[in-house]
Parts: sequence; C-alpha cells; structure tokens
Amino acid sequence: MDAEPKTPMMTRKGFLGAVAGLAVMTGLGGVAKVFSGRELLRPPGGQDEASFISRCLKCDRCRSICPTRVIGIAEVEDGFAVARTPVMKFHLGECTFCGKCTEVCPTKALTAYRTTEASFAGATVRVPDIRTGSASVHKDRCIAWSGGTCAVCFKACPYGAVSQDSDGRPIVDEHVCNGCGVCVYVCPALTARSYIGGTSRGIEVVPSKSGGAL
Ligand code: SF4
Ligand code: SF4
Ligand code: SF4
Repeated sequence: MDAEPKTPMMTRKGFLGAVAGLAVMTGLGGVAKVFSGRELLRPPGGQDEASFISRCLKCDRCRSICPTRVIGIAEVEDGFAVARTPVMKFHLGECTFCGKCTEVCPTKALTAYRTTEASFAGATVRVPDIRTGSASVHKDRCIAWSGGTCAVCFKACPYGAVSQDSDGRPIVDEHVCNGCGVCVYVCPALTARSYIGGTSRGIEVVPSKSGGAL
C-alpha cells in the first residue's frame, strides 16, 4: 500500500526560520519592515485598507488600464506586505473617476462606487459617492502662502473645493474635495524638485479621516 502523501505543513524548524527571517526583515529598519505604518493612498474603491490588502493580488491590472497614469506602486520602504500594491501618485496624473480600475480588478479589492455627472464652471465632471482622500495645502511649500502669487489650484479644481482667502491664498473645503488630485498634478510649487526626483508639491492629497466615505 502506498504511503499517504505528505501534506505541506510547515515544520517547527521551518516555522522558526520564517520567524527569524521576519525578525531580520523588521530589524533592518524602515527599508525592510513588513508594514511601515505609513498610510497609503489607494485608487478609488480601495479605501478600506484591511479589506483591500486581504484581496489585492498585486496583479497590476488597475495600473495598466488607468488612462491618466495616476496609479503607481507602493515601494519596499512602505513595507514588504504592501510593496507593489497600487497607490495614487498625483504628481503623475489625476483621477477622473472613470471606474476602469474597479472594473478590471479581479478580486474586488477595489469595490464599486457610483458617480453622477455634474457641471462645474462649464465643464462636465463625474462626482463619486466616495473620496480617495482629501487635499491639504502645505503652507511652507505653497507659493501663495509663501508671499507669492499663485491661483493654479483654485482655477483647476473641477469641483469648486478650493477657495481663496482675502490675500489670495488657497483654502480647501474638505467636505467638497473628493481627492481627485488635479490640484496636486498642476501645482507649480517646487517643480524644480521634479528634475531631481522630488515629488513634493504645495498641495497634497492625504487619506481622509472619514476613510472613503463622503
Ligand atoms: S478611476 Fe480611472 S482615472 Fe481614477 S485611478 Fe481608476 S482608472 Fe485611473
Ligand atoms: S497651485 Fe500650489 S503653489 Fe499655487 S496656490 Fe495652489 S498649492 Fe499654492
Ligand atoms: S481640492 Fe484638489 S483633490 Fe480636492 S477636488 Fe479639488 S482638485 Fe480635486
């Protein structure tokens, strides 16, 4: 009689080896942590991080199909567990909430959301019933907040989420902002940095305190 096939159980030695490997990885500091703890900005529909991480296959389909090329990937510095998962990089483009990334996601890591069409300043835009994050002005980098003149984000926001104070400095209404990232993409502050690999702008989309809810 044939011996029963062995099940691929991890031996005690293998388990200890895995734990030791993990300890080495986490002991290497920020470069090799399993999770860095840094909040990542996901494509629309991926704002429930626990659910997203449990489902994302790192298959790259969302990034490949995005027409504006705004989806990049998380780096090893973000943690081994999340490296190569999709993240929004608004210095590369903006999100139009076209829904293509959600459509191609094979595991529903990016969950469906609804959009309605609306007209702002003569242009038709999609208004999602979720938000990817909220824009936040960096006063130390923003040209207008640093004593100069700039109204680029104010003019570019398709949703009217940016207003100006009496000195012409931008203020974001976080209740209106849906994290489309147009303002980040067009912001001219620190453009010189882009030539040396820097991506910092005068405004940034950060994960919303409300998660993806409006
Ligand atoms: S909704 Fe469209 S534009 Fe936005 S990240 Fe997905 S594919 Fe790109
Ligand atoms: S586009 Fe950038 S530099 Fe100009 S006002 Fe907005 S945040 Fe400031
Ligand atoms: S403030 Fe920026 S991220 Fe928010 S809706 Fe306007 S352009 Fe989009």
